[in-house]
Amino acid sequence: MIPPVNCHAHDDASSDGAAPLAEHARAARRAGLRHLCTTNHVEVLSDDGSWSVRLEEAVPRFRAEVAAGEALRRETPGLDVRVGAEFEYRPGWTDDLDTLAGEVELDLVIGSVHVVDGLNVSGGEEPDRYFATRGPREAYRRYFETVGEMVAWGGFDVVGHFDLVARYGHERHGPYDPADHEATIRPVLAEMARRGLGIEVNTSGVAQAPGMPYPRSEILAWAREEGVPFLTMGADSHVPRHVDRGLVEGAAAARRAGWDEVTVLAGRRPAATLPLAPAREAS
Ligand SMILES: [Zn+2]
Ligand SMILES: [Zn+2]
Repeated sequence: MIPPVNCHAHDDASSDGAAPLAEHARAARRAGLRHLCTTNHVEVLSDDGSWSVRLEEAVPRFRAEVAAGEALRRETPGLDVRVGAEFEYRPGWTDDLDTLAGEVELDLVIGSVHVVDGLNVSGGEEPDRYFATRGPREAYRRYFETVGEMVAWGGFDVVGHFDLVARYGHERHGPYDPADHEATIRPVLAEMARRGLGIEVNTSGVAQAPGMPYPRSEILAWAREEGVPFLTMGADSHVPRHVDRGLVEGAAAARRAGWDEVTVLAGRRPAATLPLAPAREAS
């Protein structure tokens, strides 16, 4: 059985998602999920090819998504539809992201690092440049240090895909050993605990390199040890048919790391927990 939760999904109101929220909700129902939270991107592509956060565009877009989510929640018994956002951390964007969070009543804000030292490490042409100009140790270390900078800002609820750098890092260098970066990672987790921020199991890595959820279960275990208060789970789906992709593997990774429940948020506060252990063993 799958944990019936996907708290990281992008629909067609996100720069990279497809299909309206209602179709994602239908797919979630068919898959037996009980919670679905969309977390669309804030940034949009400008005419000059660069990404930007424009509040005059983003505020009405997210307000419309909140209204659509509320309507679906009423119309879809058994499925708790929620609306959040994925905030991409860039130092120049944090003021506008703080403003957006104050103007729209979101259920969940994921903080994500995609860009390190000005290069996008998660897609497009730039991962090649990122890894060509750094050895693997430095490539991973700079990613984790940037997660630390984002946590020091703290304008979100949960750190998304804590080791996303492993997507292209794995393709280029094979598996990495989180222990090589423990001294960088643990203080970040301790600061998350101090601020009350959760950690996400992001299962998009299961169907692509590195072939497992983000982050590695060692990091999930350290998160527990450092006192990170809760764990969320998301497929990072961009089309309805991926609404539950990797959730089985995500739950297994979290259980291996000692977590026994997954938390869902509403109004940016932990609202409910669901057990990660299988509900019933075959007898
Ligand atoms: Zn992301
Ligand atoms: Zn995402």
